Amino acid sequence: MTSDIILDNLDHTYPEAAAPTLRQVALHVPAGTRTAILGPSGSGKSTLLSIIAGLTTPTGGDVRLAGRSVLRQPPHRRDLGVVLQRPLLFPHLTVAENIAFGLRMRRTDRAVVRRRVAELLDAVALPAYADRRSTELSGGQQQRVALARALAARPAVLLLDEPFSALDPQLRGDMRALLAELHRREGTTTLFVTHDRDEATDVADHVAVLLDGHVAQHAPPAQLFRRPASLAVARFLGGAANAIPGTARAGRFDCPLGSLHLDTNHQGPGLLLIRPEAIVVAEHDAVNVIPAAITAVTDRGTHLDVRATSAGLTLHLTTGPATPLRPGDETILWLPPTQLSVVAAQHQQRPASQQR
Ligand code: ADP
Ligand code: MG
Repeated sequence: MTSDIILDNLDHTYPEAAAPTLRQVALHVPAGTRTAILGPSGSGKSTLLSIIAGLTTPTGGDVRLAGRSVLRQPPHRRDLGVVLQRPLLFPHLTVAENIAFGLRMRRTDRAVVRRRVAELLDAVALPAYADRRSTELSGGQQQRVALARALAARPAVLLLDEPFSALDPQLRGDMRALLAELHRREGTTTLFVTHDRDEATDVADHVAVLLDGHVAQHAPPAQLFRRPASLAVARFLGGAANAIPGTARAGRFDCPLGSLHLDTNHQGPGLLLIRPEAIVVAEHDAVNVIPAAITAVTDRGTHLDVRATSAGLTLHLTTGPATPLRPGDETILWLPPTQLSVVAAQHQQRPASQQR
């Protein structure tokens, strides 16, 4: 039975570490869904996964699977499948024996094991490899075996820690598709750790952005890009190129560009954010149109990188590669209200106790 995952204000400080690695991490992954933990190297992703897996005991908070605290359960009693960056298969066993390993340990009926292994070999497209030694497989094939092995006992939860980051980019795309297919078949609640934003938004329906040991935002992918919760999240997702200071009030944002219409209900001083790809170059008979002068155009092949100035501010935008724009052109830019977000001008202050 698949189950939900609840992380209840997890704190973790490694012994002798000067600062906490995780701070008040709260997260709910509903049963049968997929959430990605996305964060830069060192943000605490692996620590978080190792706490859920039972390899690290947190210094505070709780982990609940299917409604029950599992902190006192050893790893093998937690009903989890785990896949790490390196497949760590047993070299002396065949592919089929590797997949069957957990089931054999549980003394599962031989016929049941045989059926389940055949089913999983089929699911990971390796039926012809059942009797090969794992050492004869390529890296991608080994990781497919590791996925099958993790799912063999039908765990309630699947944990993956950067499982595809050692593979070629082309292969990584195939592996994401395979993971989606496995999820359709098995429906296992999945927590997927990665530092790659494309991978996170591709494999998961929700993404939790982990910055400096704290969940900075937990939202569906589109929401993260369109409505980052803070300047730090926008920076990490490459969406802070346009950050315009001003004041929000009553559905408007007053700034040097004018009084722009907002779709959000932010109030008070802040920074207006709009991603470069969300700005539209067009004579548009709508709100939020501003006159601008093009100052630079760089042809990147797939798109144009464009700089424009308006009211003394520089705006960064991207357009299709065939857009007829040249430096010196006077044009009209549309800032669609649905694409605007407002965040606090400064990083959120940490509690005084955590400041240095
Ligand atoms: P990520 O997986 O996001 O790269 P980690 O969870 O591996 O992050 O590490 C987060 C922080 O915790 C880092 O500063 C790292 O140095 C520290 N850390 C990780 N493991 C240990 C450990 N066993 N002992 C002390 N510090 C650790
Ligand atoms: Mg890690």
